[in-house]
Formats: sequence, C-alpha cells, structure tokens
Amino acid sequence: MQDGLETATRVDSKTPPHHPPGIHVKHAFVVGHPIAHSRSPLIHNYWLKANAIAGTYEPIDVLPDDLPAFFDRIREGRYVGGNVTLPHKAAAYLLSDERESLADSIGAVNTLVRLGSGAVEGRNTDYLGFLGNLDQNAPGWSEALNEVVVLGAGGACRAVVVALKSRGVRCIHLLNRTIGTAEDMAIELEGPIAAGSLAEFPKRARRAGLLINTTSVGMKSTRFDGLDLGALPQDALVTDLVYTPLVTPLLAEARALGLRTVDGLGMLLHQAVPGFEAWFGVKPEVTAELRALVEASL
Ligand code: NAP
Repeated sequence: MQDGLETATRVDSKTPPHHPPGIHVKHAFVVGHPIAHSRSPLIHNYWLKANAIAGTYEPIDVLPDDLPAFFDRIREGRYVGGNVTLPHKAAAYLLSDERESLADSIGAVNTLVRLGSGAVEGRNTDYLGFLGNLDQNAPGWSEALNEVVVLGAGGACRAVVVALKSRGVRCIHLLNRTIGTAEDMAIELEGPIAAGSLAEFPKRARRAGLLINTTSVGMKSTRFDGLDLGALPQDALVTDLVYTPLVTPLLAEARALGLRTVDGLGMLLHQAVPGFEAWFGVKPEVTAELRALVEASL
C-alpha cells in the first residue's frame, strides 16, 4: 500500500477515545498531499466541540494515485464526506459520482458528500466562501458594482468569477500573467468577462469598484511587479484570497492608499460552512472566536 492510504488507514482505524460505545460517530476528513498545513481540522473540530456533536474530522494524506481507492472508502460508508485540497480538486471533480451544478460550472470540487445511495457528490463551496466573506466584512459590496478587476485565472479564480456573475457585475476584467489562460476562461465561463494581461491593470482599474487577487502572489509576502494600486478609484475595495500572511503586500499597499480591504481568511472560514452542515446536520457559525483561533495558527 502507498503512503497516502497507509496514513488513511492509520488515522481512521483508531476509535475516537472521547465517544462512548453505542453513540453513532460520523467521520469526516480533509484529503490533500501534503496535508499538514491545512487549517480545516482546526475549523471543523472547533464546530464539533461548540455544537457538542459526536464526530471526527481528520487530515489524511493521500497521494494522487491513491485518490480513486480513497473514493471507494467513502462509498463503503467509512466517511460522511470531507474536504479536498491541493492537488486533488480537479481529479476529485472527475471521480465524483454526482456533482452539484455549481461545481459543474466551476470544474473543480473542494467538498465531498456521501449520499444515502452511497454515491459521492462533489460540491464547490469556494464560491459561497468568497461571497460570505465579503457579505460579512464589507456589507453591500455588490450593490451598484459595475466593474471589477480580477487578477489570476487559476482554479480558485473560476469560483470567484462565477460568484461575481451571480451578483450581476457588469464587467469583469480578468487579468493574468498567461493571457491565453484568461482568454480560455473568459470563453468557457461566458458572460461579461474581458481577458487581458497584468500590464493592462492601469487602464482596466480606472473605473473598478473592486479588485480581487486570486493568484498565489502574496504568499510568503511576495508582491506583483509594478502593479500601481493608485490607478483604482479612491472608494474601491481590495480583497486577496491569499491569507498567509493575513495582510499581504497588496492589502498593505491598498491600506496605505486609504482603500478599503478585506483579507482572505474569512473566505476559508465561510467555505467550510456548507460542508459541515451537510455532514453533521447543523449549520455552524463563523464567529470572532473561531477567526481568532485560526488567525493565531497562521
Ligand atoms: P492555481 O490554480 O495554481 O492558480 C495560480 C494563479 O496564480 C494563476 O493565475 C497563475 O498565473 C498565478 N500566478 C502564480 N505565480 C504568479 C506570479 N509570480 N505572477 C503572477 N501570477 C502568478 O492556484 P489556485 O488554486 O487558484 O489558488 C490561488 C491562491 O488562492 C492560492 O494562494 C490559494 O492558497 C488561495 N486560495 C485561497 C482560498 C481561501 O479560502 N482564502 C481558497 C482557494 C484558494 P499563470 O496562469 O500565469 O500561471
């Protein structure tokens, strides 16, 4: 057996010590490779405890080649479902027996739910996480929002663009380092999407009410070359999907210019809500206490 499944066996074969026999315990997971960095166990275990639910949520390291066998374990009923993180989001989309329509339009899943039939349904909750974060931290952000600049054209970006379309944004400027990827995405996702290069930022930003960074730039405090946020209107909102560090260089520059900002941690917290509700039957709350707990782990 390969590493990932050995780890999986080791983890889920343990009987959770805090649940007396006779109590039905539901098991959920986050799978990825690597997985040690994931904050999802912190979030879901906080909610399990806060809601006094007999359940477990464990990180499981699964190699890409072992993902099909892991899906069989879900179908067999060992888990009620779980989360999927890098590098498995696209593969999990293909392996899912059924998919929510939103996951179909995004083309990737981050949440799996075992249905009563034993089938595994793939869902994408990054969409709701993105909207939930801005709704909580910048109420009214999408009212009268005409133009938006989105940086990037990767997996997370797809969920963001679909979410922006759902709020009726009139023009989405999709700017990416590799223009061809942005052009392909604009065609595939359809709608008011104008693809371009990062060099076009000054021109595209002039009337934008919102700037979203969906690239991995900002992780480990990396920054964009020559992206002048001064091109944005003074009332624009700036948000970043990157949350390590919490205040990325992009957000720091926006704040220094007096622009409003929302960090990416809220998206991580809000994307976890629908999964927990599907597995454990309770809609959990994104509280200040939970945010502080996860923030302290960054
Ligand atoms: P991905 O599919 O690998 O896409 C990466 C994107 O970043 C691509 O558009 C890529 O451009 C761009 N990029 C990478 N390095 C660059 C550089 N040096 N300069 C300019 N552009 C660069 O990754 P993803 O899954 O979409 O994730 C993107 C980020 O979002 C990650 O940091 C991830 O942690 C974060 N994220 C956060 C949440 C949350 O809950 N807050 C949720 C999902 C993702 P090319 O096409 O040119 O390569």
